[in-house]
Amino acid sequence: MGSISCVLPILFLVVSLSISSTDGWGKLGHFMVCKITEKYLSENATRAVVDLLPPVAGGELAAVCSWADEVRFRYRWSSPLHYANTPGVCDFTVKRDCHNAKRTQNMCVVGAINNYTAQLRTYGKSSSGYNLTESLMFLAHFMGDIHQPLHVGFLDDEGGNTILVRWYRRKTNLHHVWDVSMIETAMKDFYNKDENIMIESIERNITGNWADDIVDWETCNRKTVTCAPQYASESIDLSCKYAYKDVEQNTTLTDDYFFSRYPIMEKRIAQAGLRLATLLNSIFDPSFNSINPGLQIA
Ligand SMILES: [Zn+2]
Repeated sequence: MGSISCVLPILFLVVSLSISSTDGWGKLGHFMVCKITEKYLSENATRAVVDLLPPVAGGELAAVCSWADEVRFRYRWSSPLHYANTPGVCDFTVKRDCHNAKRTQNMCVVGAINNYTAQLRTYGKSSSGYNLTESLMFLAHFMGDIHQPLHVGFLDDEGGNTILVRWYRRKTNLHHVWDVSMIETAMKDFYNKDENIMIESIERNITGNWADDIVDWETCNRKTVTCAPQYASESIDLSCKYAYKDVEQNTTLTDDYFFSRYPIMEKRIAQAGLRLATLLNSIFDPSFNSINPGLQIA
Protein backbone atom coordinates (compact mmCIF):
# COMPACT_ATOMS: atom_id res chain seq x y z
CA MET A 1 0.00 0.00 0.00
CA GLY A 2 2.90 2.31 0.79
CA SER A 3 4.06 2.30 -2.79
CA ILE A 4 0.57 3.08 -4.11
CA SER A 5 0.19 6.13 -1.89
CA CYS A 6 3.54 7.38 -3.19
CA VAL A 7 2.66 6.80 -6.80
CA LEU A 8 -0.84 8.31 -6.75
CA PRO A 9 0.12 11.95 -6.05
CA ILE A 10 2.69 11.74 -8.84
CA LEU A 11 0.07 10.32 -11.17
CA PHE A 12 -2.36 13.11 -10.32
CA LEU A 13 0.38 15.65 -10.88
CA VAL A 14 1.18 14.20 -14.29
CA VAL A 15 -2.48 14.07 -15.27
CA SER A 16 -3.25 17.61 -14.11
CA LEU A 17 -0.13 18.98 -15.79
CA SER A 18 -1.03 17.36 -19.05
CA ILE A 19 -4.61 18.62 -18.83
CA SER A 20 -3.54 22.20 -18.19
CA SER A 21 -1.12 22.18 -21.10
CA THR A 22 -3.49 20.73 -23.67
CA ASP A 23 -4.95 22.73 -26.49
CA GLY A 24 -7.84 20.99 -28.16
CA TRP A 25 -10.68 19.32 -26.39
CA GLY A 26 -9.08 18.48 -23.05
CA LYS A 27 -7.94 14.93 -22.47
CA LEU A 28 -11.46 13.94 -21.49
CA GLY A 29 -13.07 15.39 -24.63
CA HIS A 30 -10.69 13.50 -26.91
CA PHE A 31 -11.18 10.33 -24.88
CA MET A 32 -14.96 10.56 -25.29
CA VAL A 33 -14.72 11.22 -29.03
CA CYS A 34 -12.59 8.13 -29.55
CA LYS A 35 -14.68 5.97 -27.19
CA ILE A 36 -17.68 6.74 -29.40
CA THR A 37 -15.60 5.98 -32.51
CA GLU A 38 -14.59 2.56 -31.18
CA LYS A 39 -18.26 1.55 -30.94
CA TYR A 40 -18.95 2.29 -34.62
CA LEU A 41 -15.89 0.75 -36.26
CA SER A 42 -16.49 -2.26 -38.47
CA GLU A 43 -14.75 -5.53 -37.58
CA ASN A 44 -12.16 -5.09 -40.31
CA ALA A 45 -11.50 -1.48 -39.39
CA THR A 46 -11.15 -2.43 -35.72
CA ARG A 47 -8.61 -5.08 -36.69
CA ALA A 48 -6.52 -2.56 -38.68
CA VAL A 49 -6.74 0.07 -35.93
CA VAL A 50 -5.65 -2.39 -33.23
CA ASP A 51 -2.84 -3.56 -35.51
CA LEU A 52 -1.55 0.01 -35.85
CA LEU A 53 -1.96 1.14 -32.23
CA PRO A 54 1.21 1.31 -30.14
CA PRO A 55 1.53 -1.27 -27.32
CA VAL A 56 0.88 1.45 -24.71
CA ALA A 57 -2.70 1.81 -26.01
CA GLY A 58 -3.60 -1.69 -24.84
CA GLY A 59 -5.71 -2.15 -27.98
CA GLU A 60 -7.82 0.92 -27.24
CA LEU A 61 -7.89 3.87 -29.64
CA ALA A 62 -9.23 6.21 -26.94
CA ALA A 63 -6.08 5.66 -24.88
CA VAL A 64 -3.92 7.53 -27.40
CA CYS A 65 -6.31 10.23 -28.69
CA SER A 66 -4.45 12.94 -26.76
CA TRP A 67 -1.02 11.78 -27.92
CA ALA A 68 -0.84 14.62 -30.49
CA ASP A 69 -1.11 17.18 -27.68
CA GLU A 70 1.71 15.47 -25.81
CA VAL A 71 4.09 15.71 -28.79
CA ARG A 72 3.20 19.16 -30.09
CA PHE A 73 6.27 20.73 -28.53
CA ARG A 74 8.60 17.88 -29.49
CA TYR A 75 7.20 17.99 -33.04
CA ARG A 76 7.07 21.79 -33.29
CA TRP A 77 5.87 21.65 -36.90
CA SER A 78 2.72 19.89 -35.72
CA SER A 79 1.51 22.72 -33.49
CA PRO A 80 -0.44 24.64 -36.21
CA LEU A 81 -2.13 21.38 -37.26
CA HIS A 82 -4.46 21.51 -34.26
CA TYR A 83 -6.53 24.45 -35.53
CA ALA A 84 -7.29 26.95 -38.30
CA ASN A 85 -7.97 30.68 -38.04
CA THR A 86 -10.04 33.07 -40.10
CA PRO A 87 -9.38 36.81 -40.48
CA GLY A 88 -12.30 37.68 -38.18
CA VAL A 89 -15.00 36.33 -40.49
CA CYS A 90 -17.60 33.59 -39.90
CA ASP A 91 -16.79 31.40 -42.88
CA PHE A 92 -13.84 29.16 -43.70
CA THR A 93 -12.00 28.69 -46.96
CA VAL A 94 -9.04 26.34 -47.36
CA LYS A 95 -7.07 28.64 -49.61
CA ARG A 96 -7.32 31.68 -47.35
CA ASP A 97 -7.32 30.05 -43.92
CA CYS A 98 -5.39 26.76 -44.04
CA HIS A 99 -1.72 27.60 -43.51
CA ASN A 100 0.83 28.02 -40.73
CA ALA A 101 2.43 31.32 -39.65
CA LYS A 102 4.93 31.07 -42.53
CA ARG A 103 1.93 30.69 -44.84
CA THR A 104 2.83 27.15 -45.85
CA GLN A 105 -0.39 25.94 -47.46
CA ASN A 106 -2.36 23.06 -45.87
CA MET A 107 -0.56 23.37 -42.52
CA CYS A 108 -3.80 23.55 -40.52
CA VAL A 109 -6.24 21.07 -39.04
CA VAL A 110 -8.04 20.56 -42.38
CA GLY A 111 -4.83 19.86 -44.30
CA ALA A 112 -3.68 17.52 -41.53
CA ILE A 113 -6.87 15.44 -41.68
CA ASN A 114 -6.58 15.14 -45.46
CA ASN A 115 -2.88 14.30 -45.25
CA TYR A 116 -3.11 11.61 -42.55
CA THR A 117 -6.14 10.09 -44.27
CA ALA A 118 -4.14 9.79 -47.50
CA GLN A 119 -1.21 8.23 -45.59
CA LEU A 120 -3.46 5.67 -43.87
CA ARG A 121 -4.85 4.61 -47.24
CA THR A 122 -1.42 3.06 -47.91
CA TYR A 123 -2.01 0.56 -45.07
CA GLY A 124 -1.26 -2.97 -46.21
CA LYS A 125 0.75 -1.80 -49.21
CA SER A 126 4.41 -2.76 -49.05
CA SER A 127 5.34 0.64 -50.48
CA SER A 128 4.00 2.59 -47.49
CA GLY A 129 6.93 4.54 -46.13
CA TYR A 130 4.90 6.30 -43.45
CA ASN A 131 4.76 5.75 -39.73
CA LEU A 132 1.09 4.78 -39.85
CA THR A 133 0.89 4.42 -36.07
CA GLU A 134 1.56 8.13 -35.78
CA SER A 135 -0.73 8.89 -38.74
CA LEU A 136 -3.59 7.12 -36.96
CA MET A 137 -2.99 8.90 -33.64
CA PHE A 138 -2.77 12.28 -35.38
CA LEU A 139 -5.92 11.68 -37.42
CA ALA A 140 -7.94 10.53 -34.38
CA HIS A 141 -6.88 13.64 -32.47
CA PHE A 142 -7.40 16.18 -35.24
CA MET A 143 -10.89 14.86 -36.03
CA GLY A 144 -11.68 15.77 -32.44
CA ASP A 145 -10.02 19.19 -32.60
CA ILE A 146 -11.77 20.29 -35.79
CA HIS A 147 -15.14 19.78 -34.08
CA GLN A 148 -14.30 22.02 -31.12
CA PRO A 149 -15.82 25.23 -32.52
CA LEU A 150 -13.04 27.54 -31.32
CA HIS A 151 -10.41 25.44 -33.08
CA VAL A 152 -11.68 27.32 -36.11
CA GLY A 153 -11.82 30.79 -34.61
CA PHE A 154 -10.47 34.26 -35.25
CA LEU A 155 -6.77 34.89 -35.79
CA ASP A 156 -6.79 38.08 -33.69
CA ASP A 157 -7.86 36.36 -30.49
CA GLU A 158 -6.19 33.02 -31.26
CA GLY A 159 -9.45 31.10 -31.19
CA GLY A 160 -10.54 32.70 -27.92
CA ASN A 161 -7.22 32.09 -26.13
CA THR A 162 -6.65 35.81 -25.53
CA ILE A 163 -10.23 36.49 -24.39
CA LEU A 164 -10.01 36.36 -20.60
CA VAL A 165 -13.25 35.38 -18.88
CA ARG A 166 -14.52 33.98 -15.63
CA TRP A 167 -16.13 30.56 -15.75
CA TYR A 168 -18.43 31.01 -12.78
CA ARG A 169 -15.83 32.14 -10.21
CA ARG A 170 -12.70 30.82 -11.85
CA LYS A 171 -10.45 32.93 -14.08
CA THR A 172 -9.71 31.30 -17.42
CA ASN A 173 -10.00 32.10 -21.13
CA LEU A 174 -12.77 31.46 -23.63
CA HIS A 175 -10.86 28.77 -25.52
CA HIS A 176 -10.28 26.83 -22.32
CA VAL A 177 -13.98 27.09 -21.44
CA TRP A 178 -14.75 25.10 -24.60
CA ASP A 179 -11.79 22.73 -24.32
CA VAL A 180 -12.23 21.80 -20.71
CA SER A 181 -14.46 23.85 -18.39
CA MET A 182 -17.86 23.06 -19.91
CA ILE A 183 -17.09 19.33 -19.94
CA GLU A 184 -15.92 19.49 -16.32
CA THR A 185 -19.04 21.37 -15.21
CA ALA A 186 -21.28 18.90 -17.06
CA MET A 187 -19.46 15.95 -15.53
CA LYS A 188 -19.97 17.41 -12.07
CA ASP A 189 -23.55 18.64 -12.48
CA PHE A 190 -25.10 15.98 -14.72
CA TYR A 191 -22.99 12.84 -14.72
CA ASN A 192 -21.82 12.26 -11.17
CA LYS A 193 -18.21 12.80 -12.33
CA ASP A 194 -18.38 9.53 -14.27
CA GLU A 195 -17.20 9.80 -17.88
CA ASN A 196 -18.88 6.50 -18.75
CA ILE A 197 -22.28 7.94 -17.84
CA MET A 198 -21.60 10.96 -20.03
CA ILE A 199 -20.49 8.80 -22.96
CA GLU A 200 -23.59 6.60 -22.57
CA SER A 201 -25.80 9.68 -22.54
CA ILE A 202 -24.24 10.95 -25.78
CA GLU A 203 -24.68 7.53 -27.34
CA ARG A 204 -28.34 7.49 -26.34
CA ASN A 205 -28.79 10.78 -28.18
CA ILE A 206 -27.05 9.34 -31.26
CA THR A 207 -29.58 6.53 -31.47
CA GLY A 208 -32.45 8.74 -30.29
CA ASN A 209 -32.71 12.53 -30.72
CA TRP A 210 -30.10 12.80 -33.46
CA ALA A 211 -30.83 9.54 -35.30
CA ASP A 212 -32.48 11.34 -38.24
CA ASP A 213 -29.46 13.61 -38.70
CA ILE A 214 -26.82 10.89 -38.87
CA VAL A 215 -26.89 10.48 -42.65
CA ASP A 216 -26.28 14.23 -43.01
CA TRP A 217 -23.44 14.10 -40.52
CA GLU A 218 -21.73 11.37 -42.47
CA THR A 219 -21.87 12.94 -45.89
CA CYS A 220 -20.63 16.14 -47.47
CA ASN A 221 -21.05 17.65 -50.88
CA ARG A 222 -17.46 18.62 -51.47
CA LYS A 223 -15.26 16.52 -53.65
CA THR A 224 -12.18 16.61 -51.46
CA VAL A 225 -10.10 13.89 -49.78
CA THR A 226 -12.29 14.17 -46.69
CA CYS A 227 -15.20 16.30 -45.47
CA ALA A 228 -12.79 18.28 -43.25
CA PRO A 229 -13.44 21.65 -44.99
CA GLN A 230 -17.13 21.28 -44.13
CA TYR A 231 -16.36 20.45 -40.48
CA ALA A 232 -14.22 23.60 -40.29
CA SER A 233 -17.03 25.67 -41.83
CA GLU A 234 -19.45 24.31 -39.24
CA SER A 235 -17.03 25.14 -36.42
CA ILE A 236 -16.46 28.79 -37.36
CA ASP A 237 -20.21 29.18 -37.81
CA LEU A 238 -20.80 27.78 -34.30
CA SER A 239 -17.98 29.94 -32.92
CA CYS A 240 -19.78 33.04 -34.22
CA LYS A 241 -23.30 31.98 -33.24
CA TYR A 242 -22.50 30.53 -29.82
CA ALA A 243 -18.89 30.58 -28.56
CA TYR A 244 -18.06 34.26 -29.18
CA LYS A 245 -21.62 35.54 -28.89
CA ASP A 246 -22.17 37.95 -25.98
CA VAL A 247 -18.59 37.46 -24.76
CA GLU A 248 -16.11 40.29 -24.30
CA GLN A 249 -12.90 40.64 -22.30
CA ASN A 250 -13.60 39.89 -18.63
CA THR A 251 -17.18 38.67 -19.14
CA THR A 252 -18.34 36.34 -16.40
CA LEU A 253 -19.94 33.24 -17.91
CA THR A 254 -22.44 31.31 -15.82
CA ASP A 255 -25.64 29.25 -16.17
CA ASP A 256 -27.05 31.25 -19.11
CA TYR A 257 -23.99 30.57 -21.21
CA PHE A 258 -23.54 27.00 -20.01
CA PHE A 259 -27.11 25.81 -20.59
CA SER A 260 -27.38 27.38 -24.05
CA ARG A 261 -23.94 26.24 -25.28
CA TYR A 262 -23.49 22.89 -23.63
CA PRO A 263 -25.89 20.99 -25.98
CA ILE A 264 -23.85 22.27 -28.94
CA MET A 265 -20.67 20.92 -27.39
CA GLU A 266 -22.15 17.51 -26.72
CA LYS A 267 -23.38 17.28 -30.29
CA ARG A 268 -19.93 18.18 -31.61
CA ILE A 269 -18.37 15.38 -29.54
CA ALA A 270 -20.93 12.96 -31.00
CA GLN A 271 -20.31 14.18 -34.55
CA ALA A 272 -16.54 13.91 -34.14
CA GLY A 273 -16.80 10.36 -32.80
CA LEU A 274 -19.16 9.14 -35.51
CA ARG A 275 -17.37 10.87 -38.35
CA LEU A 276 -14.00 9.50 -37.26
CA ALA A 277 -15.53 6.01 -37.28
CA THR A 278 -16.97 6.57 -40.76
CA LEU A 279 -13.63 7.84 -42.01
CA LEU A 280 -11.66 4.93 -40.53
CA ASN A 281 -14.23 2.47 -41.93
CA SER A 282 -13.83 4.01 -45.38
CA ILE A 283 -10.03 3.77 -45.12
CA PHE A 284 -9.69 0.25 -43.73
CA ASP A 285 -12.93 -1.40 -44.86
CA PRO A 286 -14.10 0.34 -48.08
CA SER A 287 -16.86 -2.18 -48.79
CA PHE A 288 -18.45 -1.60 -45.38
CA ASN A 289 -21.66 0.43 -45.47
CA SER A 290 -20.69 3.54 -43.59
CA ILE A 291 -24.17 4.03 -42.19
CA ASN A 292 -23.57 1.54 -39.44
CA PRO A 293 -26.47 -0.84 -38.75
CA GLY A 294 -25.76 -0.20 -35.08
CA LEU A 295 -27.17 3.28 -35.57
CA GLN A 296 -30.54 2.14 -36.79
CA ILE A 297 -33.29 2.10 -34.26
CA ALA A 298 -34.83 -1.34 -33.84
ZN1 LIG B 1 -5.21 19.36 -30.28
